[in-house]
Amino acid sequence: MNETKFALFRAKLEEICFSIISEVKEKYKSQKGDLNEPAADIADGAVQSYDRQLMMGLGEKELRKLKLVEEAIGKIDAGQYGICLECEELIPEGRLSVIPYASRCVDCLEMIEKRNTII
Ligand SMILES: [Zn+2]
Repeated sequence: MNETKFALFRAKLEEICFSIISEVKEKYKSQKGDLNEPAADIADGAVQSYDRQLMMGLGEKELRKLKLVEEAIGKIDAGQYGICLECEELIPEGRLSVIPYASRCVDCLEMIEKRNTII
């Protein structure tokens, strides 16, 4: 994968990250509507510096997704993006364009799911 592709996937990942944050921000804002604290500050600035209260507003599913997105961004920075955690083969770009934060290829994912259902 070349630099342009990395940049493209990075932008996608940051977009997912931002949409999760703004969703929670909206939820948080509606819950604490009478608070005069400017809620807009929460999602501003670096992607990785979250407000603690914001983190508490995240559901388990959102938190897990956000973690995967963060990991994927970290992998882009390390030049390891798109490599399956299990078999260390390249994850097909078609899969990454659907799920940019995928950390495993489809084969390994199926294997893990099977393993989990057996247990
Ligand atoms: Zn794999």
